[in-house]
Amino acid sequence: MATRLSNKLRLPVTVEGHELVVSASMGISLLPDSARDISALVSQSNMAMQHAKHLGGNNFQFYTDSLQASTLERLQLENQLRKAVEEKQLKVFYQPKLCLATGKLNAAEALVRWDHPTMGRVPPGDFIGLAEETGLIGPIGEFVLRQACWQACEWQRQGLEPIRVSVNLSVHQLRQGKLVSLVRQVLEETGLAPHYLELELTESQLLDSVEHIIATFQQLRDLGVKLAIDDFGTGYSSLSYLKRIPVDYVKIDQAFIRGLGEGTEDAAITRAIIAMAHGLSLKVVAEGVERCEQLEFLKHEQCDEVQGYLISRPVEADRLVALLREQCME
Ligand code: C2E
Ligand code: MG
Ligand code: MG
Repeated sequence: MATRLSNKLRLPVTVEGHELVVSASMGISLLPDSARDISALVSQSNMAMQHAKHLGGNNFQFYTDSLQASTLERLQLENQLRKAVEEKQLKVFYQPKLCLATGKLNAAEALVRWDHPTMGRVPPGDFIGLAEETGLIGPIGEFVLRQACWQACEWQRQGLEPIRVSVNLSVHQLRQGKLVSLVRQVLEETGLAPHYLELELTESQLLDSVEHIIATFQQLRDLGVKLAIDDFGTGYSSLSYLKRIPVDYVKIDQAFIRGLGEGTEDAAITRAIIAMAHGLSLKVVAEGVERCEQLEFLKHEQCDEVQGYLISRPVEADRLVALLREQCME
């Protein structure tokens, strides 16, 4: 019945000459098998529907007891994440990028970490999704942005050569519409020159609402901020978007770098991305560089910057200072 229903819903409708398609997520709970009264039935089917949405939407799911448990877990995690923001359990780590033309560390990416009081260090992959769903990405993103800009200035005050800091954006921050004014305010507050700030957005999120993103990116660019497409090659990799979206850097996804080796498909793809980006006057950063052969390949192909465990893992701000000082000595 659910399949029949969604097939009916999926039929296109024409509104003022535009063909519109609706998709639906459905949750199903059974009475009396899983629920004993109407209110439980409704709340369980709602949980199942949320689950269907988490799985990408446009499908249906049945309620199960494990769903109840995982919903509770998520709820707890959400409350704890809310507390984490207030109680300053979030930290920013920095992973340096090496400029291949000069052989110097010239930039660093800010990566958030959550030091949970009992669970220990929680990686961003485990909570950014939840933060996006609950809107907590707003305060988290603002915290990372402010911290990174402050830190970049602080390094300059400590007498280090200025480096660029990059901060990851979530498309939810762009949707809220306050991003440009927030960035302007943080730059003013911290005193960081705009061209030392870079903002990264993943390729898959770029396609979310292209026109709005192009407009926002243009405003950020007018401020003097640098922009990057993160995880390039894993989304739709539409070349026409690359031409239209105002960015400065393309970051090749780790998946391609992992498989680099002479004669491999990943080598061909990496080579093509570098050539294409350079053709459009964009700089190229390779992510996830772990081995010397990968570095040699990227040097040979004239990649601009590299980032990965071979150079350094993401580290605390103090540790990065040590790395930057070491290179001054060389
Ligand atoms: P990303 O922006 O693509 O960041 C690169 C990820 O690759 C980082 O994982 C980094 O630790 C990891 N990495 C770097 N070098 C290597 C390497 O040589 N080998 C391997 N295997 N991995 C490497 P991390 O820190 O766990 O972050 C994961 C993702 O979480 C980031 O991917 C980014 O999309 C997101 N993220 C992190 N911090 C923030 C934030 O403040 N805001 C938002 N919206 N997203 C964030
Ligand atoms: Mg990134
Ligand atoms: Mg990436």
